[in-house]
Amino acid sequence: MKQVLTELQARDLQHVWHPCSQMKDYEQFPPIVIKSGEGVWLYDENGKRYLDAVSSWWVNLFGHANKRISQALSEQAFTLEHVIFANFTHEPAVKVAEKLVALTPPGLQKVFFADNGSAAIEVALKMSFQYHMQTGKTSKKRFLALTDAYHGETLGALSVGGVDLYNEVYQPLLLDTVRAQGPDCFRCPFNEKPESCQAQCIRSVEEKLDAHHEEITAVIIEPLIQAAAGMKMYPPIYLRKLRELCTAYDVHLIADEIAVGFGRTGTLFACEQAEISPDFMCLSKGLTGGYLPLSVVLTTDTVYDAFYDEYGTMKAFLHSHSYTGNTLACRVALEVLTMFEEENYIEMIQQKGGLMRKLAEEAFSHLPYVGEYRQIGLVGAIELVADRNTKEPLPSEERIGYQIYQNALEKGLLIRPLGNILYFMPPYIISAEEIHFMIDTTKQTIESFFAEREGRTCSNDPQYSPL
Ligand SMILES: *Cc1c(COP(=O)(O)O)cnc(C)c1O
Repeated sequence: MKQVLTELQARDLQHVWHPCSQMKDYEQFPPIVIKSGEGVWLYDENGKRYLDAVSSWWVNLFGHANKRISQALSEQAFTLEHVIFANFTHEPAVKVAEKLVALTPPGLQKVFFADNGSAAIEVALKMSFQYHMQTGKTSKKRFLALTDAYHGETLGALSVGGVDLYNEVYQPLLLDTVRAQGPDCFRCPFNEKPESCQAQCIRSVEEKLDAHHEEITAVIIEPLIQAAAGMKMYPPIYLRKLRELCTAYDVHLIADEIAVGFGRTGTLFACEQAEISPDFMCLSKGLTGGYLPLSVVLTTDTVYDAFYDEYGTMKAFLHSHSYTGNTLACRVALEVLTMFEEENYIEMIQQKGGLMRKLAEEAFSHLPYVGEYRQIGLVGAIELVADRNTKEPLPSEERIGYQIYQNALEKGLLIRPLGNILYFMPPYIISAEEIHFMIDTTKQTIESFFAEREGRTCSNDPQYSPL
């Protein structure tokens, strides 16, 4: 079917190359032109609205066009927009650093600024490596990462990532990472139940550390949720055991809280649930509430001190970005952190998470193609499968998640899935009524999709006769 394009859609397709997209798909499904946003809603050029249930790729915390944040940003823009961050500083950056040190797990004392999540990962990897070079552990040149990990898409970040979809073509360019089997609670090979799980699967990391610790500089992990791999969730005990192993084998622990930081899992940081402090913590996404690109890496005094010396020793960390410590982004981050201090968002997330869980379990647990509904904090995921008993995946070439996404959009709901995993990661300001709409619309869309698919499958069957 040929689409009738609006003027802006046609102009977009002339010159714009969109992320994470096969551009040919846009022939059938042109980009939706969004003109404005308010709260959880996005409004397109025809006035149609969509509930942004994925917080525009997991960044938005307090709704679109948030008055308080917009006001702070606007005032800052008329005062100072940006300044070189080498030898210069500004109050928003200082305050953001102070607040982050106060809010993150104990021991993280120093804050290095970058401008997106992948860049923060590069910073942490480079710092960990250089730390070991400068403290005499020169054999430590490799990183250990998990299967199904996602840490961003620059080459260093891809090297520690384990999602084939993003890595495969670039494999010849990537670092030689040590890969351990990550937790897989939905298809647990040990048949453990979440309530009694002792994280036996950590064994894989232990074996790799045992064999390779002398060459490993750091283990990198997404605490509690392997998000891009399909919102794969695992219990805090895994993190606790991992922290112990890293300490025992003298290897850094890098916590990539880019997706889960700032309340997503029901605590301000996911590491809190395991009561651990990593050696590096990477933050971005929610840091500016979805307003501007900014990221930070927090680390310990021990790491910092290994770089602190006379200039001539050449121990400095020479990583920089043009927009390092951007003033506007820092001012917005400061507003976001102040909002967390002034209002009890953590309690709000837990309470809304409770409602979302109740409604979602009622709606999805018994649907034929739902293998599992899982949730932590305000992240919920529906894993669609071909068979609930065997947990056999649906054929990926059918792009079922993608079709359900398109059908949900028609109904005013934005739930861009990860393969055949549909998920909810709404802004924290979502109302009870909006949670109902999100769950009900998803349920209807899943049901009507599979009803239609079964109809199609039957009519393709040569044995099948409609008469
Ligand atoms: C999004 C994400 C990144 C990369 O951040 P970008 O800003 O997209 O480069 C890294 N790690 C995790 C866990 C993420 O979710």
